[in-house]
Amino acid sequence: MAEVEKESSNEKLSKDQIEQDEKTQEDFQKNGEQIFNQEMFEELAKQKNYNALAKIAEKDKTQFKIFKRLKWKGQLYQINESIRVNFQDTLRIGIIKRITSIKSFIDNQELPLLQLNWYYSKMDLDSQWERYMKCFSEYELFLTEISDFIFIGQIIDKVKVLSLNEYDSFLDDDISGQNRLFFMRCTYNSEKKSINPNLNELEKVCFCEMPQNPDLVYIFCESCKKWLHMDCVHLTEDEAKNIEEYICVQCNK
Ligand SMILES: [Zn+2]
Ligand SMILES: [Zn+2]
Repeated sequence: MAEVEKESSNEKLSKDQIEQDEKTQEDFQKNGEQIFNQEMFEELAKQKNYNALAKIAEKDKTQFKIFKRLKWKGQLYQINESIRVNFQDTLRIGIIKRITSIKSFIDNQELPLLQLNWYYSKMDLDSQWERYMKCFSEYELFLTEISDFIFIGQIIDKVKVLSLNEYDSFLDDDISGQNRLFFMRCTYNSEKKSINPNLNELEKVCFCEMPQNPDLVYIFCESCKKWLHMDCVHLTEDEAKNIEEYICVQCNK
């Protein structure tokens, strides 16, 4: 955190650090008026109000540039990459949707900003999803439509967001200890508080018909060919280790 804090909004990118994208002037919103001035820039940069800064600067094509990729402290950042950032003193994960820079009036240097769409973790979901917590992983992310601009110096590191299948095969390779590895199978609409696709459409396990959570341990029934939750079949992990061929209570009836 301290390292991020050190990098104040005064830190700007020199021109040779920027790889500019080939954008035509038509790509920028046209607005003849000069509405962006030094005072405004300084005030908003001081407040770290990058959303407002970007919104105003976007209207003036001389002050606002858009990039496909941008190099910062030796690291290349591109659209659609996922990153961890320090946002209002909390650690958040987002996906890069836009890379811009705003020219400062003070010294004509660039203030590089990224527009992110935030991911939610299961803890961020609305309380109506409480009873499904068992089927969501600690490492599961839900992409939301909520977006903010951040200063590039707020980035902590890049993270990988895999599909559940990819994530599962990584776990099989026994590199589960590796951090910065997440998966996503659903998005989340923060207004409707809905998960998409609907949980009914996800692959299910066990008699309880819950979507699979890769954090949990399951036992396989050789008869019904289902993966079953330990607590649903009333077994402990130690008991399960000593069973070679498991036939579940429902198949044994
Ligand atoms: Zn179950
Ligand atoms: Zn069975």
